[in-house]
Amino acid sequence: MTGVKAPVFVTAMRCDMECEVIVVGGGPAGLACALGLADSGLAVIVVERQPIAALADPAVDGRAIALTHRSVDILRALGAWALIDPAVVSPLRRACVLDGRSDFTLAFDPPNDRLSEDRLGQLVANHHIRRALFAAATSGETAAVTSKLTILAESAVCDVVADRAGTAVTLSDGRVLRGRLLVAADSRFSGVRDRLGIGATVNRLGRSMLVVDVTHECDHRGIATEWFGYDQTIALLPLVGRRSSVVLTLPEDAIARLAGLEPAALAAELTRRSAGKLGTMHVAGRAHVYPLATVWSHHFAATRAALIGDAAVGMHPVTAHGFNLGLRSAASLASLVSHAAGSGRDIGASSLLRRYEVAHRIAAAPAFAATGLIVGLYTDDRMPARVARPAILRAAARLSPIRAGVSRMLMRH
Ligand SMILES: Cc1cc2nc3c(=O)[nH]c(=O)nc-3n(C[C@H](O)[C@H](O)[C@H](O)COP(=O)(O)OP(=O)(O)OC[C@H]3O[C@@H](n4cnc5c(N)ncnc54)[C@H](O)[C@@H]3O)c2cc1C
Repeated sequence: MTGVKAPVFVTAMRCDMECEVIVVGGGPAGLACALGLADSGLAVIVVERQPIAALADPAVDGRAIALTHRSVDILRALGAWALIDPAVVSPLRRACVLDGRSDFTLAFDPPNDRLSEDRLGQLVANHHIRRALFAAATSGETAAVTSKLTILAESAVCDVVADRAGTAVTLSDGRVLRGRLLVAADSRFSGVRDRLGIGATVNRLGRSMLVVDVTHECDHRGIATEWFGYDQTIALLPLVGRRSSVVLTLPEDAIARLAGLEPAALAAELTRRSAGKLGTMHVAGRAHVYPLATVWSHHFAATRAALIGDAAVGMHPVTAHGFNLGLRSAASLASLVSHAAGSGRDIGASSLLRRYEVAHRIAAAPAFAATGLIVGLYTDDRMPARVARPAILRAAARLSPIRAGVSRMLMRH
């Protein structure tokens, strides 16, 4: 984004395209928000810097997303769930947490109530979700086609202005789009957020995650394992068949070294680091590396603008809530905006944006804080933490309301 030297007013800007809602970022949050507005009759433009081919057929990025039941419901309502092949959906039947060298396991199961099914959630690779959202936004079978949705691909936003009169977005080719509401869905290092003058607490953790699909000897029985070791964190996420997504967290230099290994050497290392829990592993895909940084935006809204997805809250992936919360933010904003449009009210009114902000803060703050506490304690290998860590797991195991509450949070967030 370029720097602004003098105040710029929307009314004084040129206009090459006009719409009502401008969404910056065609990732899952941006596309979900645009789809959520499909029935509102509002003209929506999604601006995305990637080419259309990369949106229509997204590259595998290694992320296996643990979807809550709520997220599946939202994807279903958007018409995207039906476009995901059931053969690539893996049931998450149980989640187990282990600590250090202890064999003690804290297990979370679907609660025995009306809401529950036989699973805590579903695991789906991120590229399948992104492909389905894009297909829903562009296929003839969804409401989006009858809506006024335009996707401007290969278009990078380099400047934004939002004031009471409206919003204007300048693209890198000089074109200017104008609208009544601006939605920032441009990831955790959001340039739009900076441009709007919204601060954010960014915590770079100095660690990276290596994510890779593996095949293995033993049956995972649909169980996800999160093992907080003393010098590493490793998650084994069950995929269809004798296949798992391994998510290994280590200091950045150690992950860079592992990512450079040949597949056979990497598989041997992962088998060793997972203590052979699933037997011998074989690497079944490319390893992807994600440096870890969490982000909490100080506001989720500004004049005629809202932040959704990672642009609002960049979660640590350990509790698998980033996408789920992002989808929830997109649905929540789209619903408020659609209602306002339906009753002839201003879709960028500050009262509407305040309601969105409050709702998303209530949804996101507990999960963000709890995730921060878990990461802080279970990546601390010093002696007091080593004593506290297993004690807390054992205490939680004895308190069944806590376990049931966490299970519900895992399922519904
Ligand atoms: C290893 C890993 C595992 C994860 N596992 C889970 C999980 O199990 N469950 C879960 O809920 N979440 C999980 N997450 C989090 C989840 O992947 C993210 O929360 C989600 O992808 C964020 O979506 P988004 O649309 O907000 O942002 P992004 O996916 O980052 O999309 C942002 C889009 O904006 C575009 N863009 C950016 N700047 C501009 C610009 N200036 N102009 C135009 N376009 C722009 C980008 O090209 C991109 O397409 C995981 C994350 C990681 C790294």
